[in-house]
Amino acid sequence: MSNSPETFVEIRKWRGLPAHPPSDTAPLFQEKIPIAAPSLPCIEELLENFRAVLQQPYLTNGPAVEALESAAASFLGVKECVAVSSCTSGLMLVERALGLRGEVIVPSFTFCATAHSLLWNGLRPVFVDCDPHTLNAGPKQIERAITPRTSAILGVHIFGLPAPVKELRDLADRHHLRLLFDGAHAFGSRVGASKVAAWGNATVFSLSPTKPLVAGEGGLIATDDGDLAARLRQTRNYGKSADNDCEQLGLNARMTELQAVLALAGLPHVERGIDRRNYLASRYESLLGTTRGLRMQRSPFPCRNSRKDLAIVIDEARFGMSRNALEQQLARDNIETRRYFDPPLHKQKLYRSFHDPNGQSLPVTEKISTGVLCLPLHAGLPEETIVRIAERIASLQRDRSSP
Ligand SMILES: *Cc1c(COP(=O)(O)O)cnc(C)c1O
Repeated sequence: MSNSPETFVEIRKWRGLPAHPPSDTAPLFQEKIPIAAPSLPCIEELLENFRAVLQQPYLTNGPAVEALESAAASFLGVKECVAVSSCTSGLMLVERALGLRGEVIVPSFTFCATAHSLLWNGLRPVFVDCDPHTLNAGPKQIERAITPRTSAILGVHIFGLPAPVKELRDLADRHHLRLLFDGAHAFGSRVGASKVAAWGNATVFSLSPTKPLVAGEGGLIATDDGDLAARLRQTRNYGKSADNDCEQLGLNARMTELQAVLALAGLPHVERGIDRRNYLASRYESLLGTTRGLRMQRSPFPCRNSRKDLAIVIDEARFGMSRNALEQQLARDNIETRRYFDPPLHKQKLYRSFHDPNGQSLPVTEKISTGVLCLPLHAGLPEETIVRIAERIASLQRDRSSP
């Protein structure tokens, strides 16, 4: 009797362990389920286009880059699109071209490259807290951080969920600040009927392999400001003018023709990829929506989320298991996950000295970063895989909670 499997499960529950010891169970998946996979177009079609590029004299900044710029500008609903080597270099160039000075307000709950672009320009990042439901920095948090030294707000559309763009624009207008967005996650995201790039002085997108549109590496700067775009076309190319007499500091942030060809071929499939990821995300939501101690990103206004990532936030006390323990269990099940973004920027070694401990506290960011976990989500995942992952997570919560 004392050795029966039922008794064993009861004892494990009583001790706060999962009902079944992980070593006793086979992993849920035999092969690893990757958290993301690049959305790539048909390889045969690509090879044809690569061949065409290799047969012409331009390997960088040529006709394919121009074609990508005009196709992306019309997709994004902006006047100008400037292709660059990465989102990081694009942000660096935009901040410099806008002449930013002093302090720039930025969320702490974001990827390091957002704030790196500021340090490269000698600007001081002022970190603000995020909203617990959207995970984006909110207008109230940003307004409280404005000082006479503030020159800009650098917003981020976290995981593809649009930031509160209208409120941020009003805030920037009222305080005479520049407004720019790190749109690394948000190619194809919309607020109402318009694409996210319609707001602010400029939005910079990333085309690296896990982003909604892929060039291998690359970035796109979207803006309605023709003068800004002209400056950027010069500064991405060392700041060189036609007569080789440099007027402004630039760097080599050009995109190659091969990268442009890859992104051009992917562009017609972006919307379909977003639809598919939204469908899979809705499956996660319906299967995990009522799980105690588990939350997902939620927008207070109608929008289209590119769903670059699917994040869950675990409240350890209510879920009955820590984020780290869940991460380990899912790894044993061959399910790849990521802790985006932990530690948050104001806690990272590089940035600690920029965070004024007597200034704003960031309680939501600090709590959420210890509970956040991104789950597999990409267009190629079968729905069945999502269902099994979600059911596994829900069952771990049930096993852990007391009756
Ligand atoms: C990926 C990412 C970047 C950097 O993009 P690169 O194209 O690799 O420079 C910047 N910001 C955020 C939020 C990102 O996720």
